[in-house]
Amino acid sequence: MHPLAIADARAFWDGALQAAARGERIILCARRGDEVLGTGSLALVSAPSQPHRAELTKVMTTASARGSGVGAALVRALEQAARDHGRHLITLDASLVGGATRFYRRLGYRPAGDIPEFAYKPLGGLAATRVLWKLLDAREIARPPIDTSMDEAHMRQALALAERAMLDDDEIPVGALVLDPTGKVIGTGWNRNIAEHDPSAHAEIVAMRHAGAALGNHRLLGCTLYVTLEPCAMCAMAMVHARVARVVFGAFDPKTGAAGSVFDMLEDPRHNHRIAVTGGVCADVAGPMLTNYFRRKRGLPPR
Ligand SMILES: [Zn+2]
Repeated sequence: MHPLAIADARAFWDGALQAAARGERIILCARRGDEVLGTGSLALVSAPSQPHRAELTKVMTTASARGSGVGAALVRALEQAARDHGRHLITLDASLVGGATRFYRRLGYRPAGDIPEFAYKPLGGLAATRVLWKLLDAREIARPPIDTSMDEAHMRQALALAERAMLDDDEIPVGALVLDPTGKVIGTGWNRNIAEHDPSAHAEIVAMRHAGAALGNHRLLGCTLYVTLEPCAMCAMAMVHARVARVVFGAFDPKTGAAGSVFDMLEDPRHNHRIAVTGGVCADVAGPMLTNYFRRKRGLPPR
């Protein structure tokens, strides 16, 4: 509750509990025995024009409970509470620092946009926030079921291509491959910017060029693209133009990622083609490969 003083924080929670007693708010607490592991709260919006909306607020876990699934369990329980109260749209705002936006993305929340100078940071100064939303159950945007069983195997192939970028060409280690609708690899690529003097020669563009040539078509209909790093805005837009069906990426890119981290180009409802996205596959390998490449460039030992 930083930067609030203890008395202000108490007053906030007293007010929240009174709202809960009036039925305007639902507050859940995760516990192990007497130990509180986390809390989360759902405000039932009272505007007559929004009887279907609830706002998720103050989802917090203790430091010892981080990474244990308590936060996700709280959100799911609050979603069920929302359903029980006839609400099927959930909105929230999440800080851009820390892993909050990624946490909600994994739970199916979609970013609507960022608002600068939204709230005070714990140590002072104003910070931006990201507004996210989710339609519950059947009201979520209908998507055909996705087979994710081969994702790791294909990502390992893309990681091998990323390694070639680094070892053969001393380029940033990003690798990509394109599969046709039957699952056959029809395009591969790795970063070739420096060697080709080509600002557009990112791994995904190189792989899509090969795939287009293989199909004899500039549209990669029904194709899946695997890439070891979250696509940038240029590559994401090229994927939309190419009508790629699905993108699977490895490491998240909090600085320039255009599959949800900074921009959300692949699933933006303003495009007439939207791409199904799965992120974070083999991120434990893809992330360190990139980090250590840049560390080596700066003369630092690998982490
Ligand atoms: Zn790119």
